[in-house]
Amino acid sequence: MFKLTDLPYAPDALEPVISARTLEFHHGKHLKGYVDKLNELIAGTPFEEQPLEDIIRGSEGAVFNNAGQILNHEMYFEQFSAAPSAPAGALAAKIAEQWGSIDAFKAEFAAKGAGVFGSGWVWLAANAEGQLQILQESGAGNPVARGLRPILTFDVWEHAYYLDWQNRRPAYLEALWKILDWKVIEKRFA
Ligand code: MN
Repeated sequence: MFKLTDLPYAPDALEPVISARTLEFHHGKHLKGYVDKLNELIAGTPFEEQPLEDIIRGSEGAVFNNAGQILNHEMYFEQFSAAPSAPAGALAAKIAEQWGSIDAFKAEFAAKGAGVFGSGWVWLAANAEGQLQILQESGAGNPVARGLRPILTFDVWEHAYYLDWQNRRPAYLEALWKILDWKVIEKRFA
């Protein structure tokens, strides 16, 4: 049985970028819905004994969608903090090497997030050699399904931003940099 993971901060900790009301729905209703649905779908199947990543790699359709959305949201919520931190260490160095600067990377990442058509995610992912790439994914898509390691993700489903930002997805994406805890992201790359 999968469980709804707790948020690592108070519901109002990320205001005004992400409001307590958005978290109430996004975490308490949307993510909880994916957890409940996946548990229902995999009951009595071999998926019941598998970790989320294995389910994602071995499934399609509704099982893939709900398992993917659990992983995607757990990573999304975990990477924010009321006490954000700046890029540092090996990940910051690799980003600077590949994009020229952190700002150039942020600009491309946000532009690709803004450019996802409909509901989806923008990801920073690493391959086995530690090379980074930005991926646009629709629906529940994620780098795990492509054999890549997920490092950073912004949710561009409307439920992630509509209460706070209405249709202004680029403004929401730009604001997310202010609440990002790069220490968490750096650990995913190390
Ligand atoms: Mn979402």
